[in-house]
Amino acid sequence: MATLSLKNLNKIYPNGFHAVHNFNLDIEEGEFVVFVGPSGCGKSTTLRMIAGLEEISSGEFLINGERANEKGPREREVAMVFQSYALYPQMTVYDNIAFGLTLQGVDEDVIEERVQKTAKILGLTDYLDRLPRALSGGQRQRVAIGRALIRKVGIFLMDEPLSNLDAKQRVTMRSEIAQIHQETGSTTIYVTHDQTEAMTLADRIVVMKDGYIQQVGTPYELYFKPENVFVAGFIGEPPMNFARETVENGAIAFGDQRIDLTAFRPDIAAMEGKEIVFGFRPEAVVLQEKENAARMECQVELTEMLGDYTNVYITAGEQHAILKVDSHDTPETDGTITFWIPAESMYFFDGATEKVL
Ligand code: ATP
Repeated sequence: MATLSLKNLNKIYPNGFHAVHNFNLDIEEGEFVVFVGPSGCGKSTTLRMIAGLEEISSGEFLINGERANEKGPREREVAMVFQSYALYPQMTVYDNIAFGLTLQGVDEDVIEERVQKTAKILGLTDYLDRLPRALSGGQRQRVAIGRALIRKVGIFLMDEPLSNLDAKQRVTMRSEIAQIHQETGSTTIYVTHDQTEAMTLADRIVVMKDGYIQQVGTPYELYFKPENVFVAGFIGEPPMNFARETVENGAIAFGDQRIDLTAFRPDIAAMEGKEIVFGFRPEAVVLQEKENAARMECQVELTEMLGDYTNVYITAGEQHAILKVDSHDTPETDGTITFWIPAESMYFFDGATEKVL
């Protein structure tokens, strides 16, 4: 097991592109950290710098307190699982899993024991004689994970390991990865652009955008205490509703609705005349009158009944928003819906910096 420390890491590619800016993070022993963000934000580049597959342009990378910038991938004792499983097609599942140990010249008996144990954890015992082409996508990914696991290294790196699987397989493998992590206790870094994977797997999530860390926190912190508009909009499905408005007489407009903020924000006077971004989550609204909440009455444009809940697409004049309500409360399309946004579910961000107020 291992602790990792990333201090002011930067990556500038040979073509001059600055892909990762001043990345700072300390990862505890056994922690499961997920890097999440839109395509091109620098997640894989950061992971590859940790793996030793990409040179670190500046900054320091420490494993167990020791500088590792100059160490090669093998010396860093990391195991990595890629999006493409990268299995050897002509080798059986057994040989694919055993490969790393065979290369190291480990004793046959030890290899046999470790392959059997790894295969058992991953439910591959009955497939050891098969070639990869005779396996499903999920099974292949399990072999790739097995090949990494068997090396018993302290650091486990995964780059979008589930992206080639269908939705159902992804859910199954996701819980398997969580179980494997519990069993092995390896320090794990997992890259994904899927916020559900990030929320369900992570002890801590690192949200990235354009090569910069936006926020580091537990899933709870990122959902309830987003530090800026980007994180607030990235975590949560459907995303948070936003309106960019100027504070006038202690109130803001939400389309044709007016929200008097004097009761909710004691510091509202300081925001007078300023542009702010107001946000609330679709699932945070209540349909019964509530104290210390803003009342809204909006037009219902469309509803989507999804089983236990319904997405309600509403308009307030020019302003659009989505509400998530219990499916038993699904309103009529083309009618109006009245709802309350509790004070604790209102978010305010600075219009210029987009940081939380
Ligand atoms: P994705 O989810 O699409 O894999 P990512 O967040 O992992 O995205 P990276 O692969 O780390 O993103 O790429 C970050 C940025 O660096 C991108 O804009 C990419 O085009 C650029 N980049 C990646 N590799 C190179 C390279 N070898 N030379 C120059 N630019 C590169």
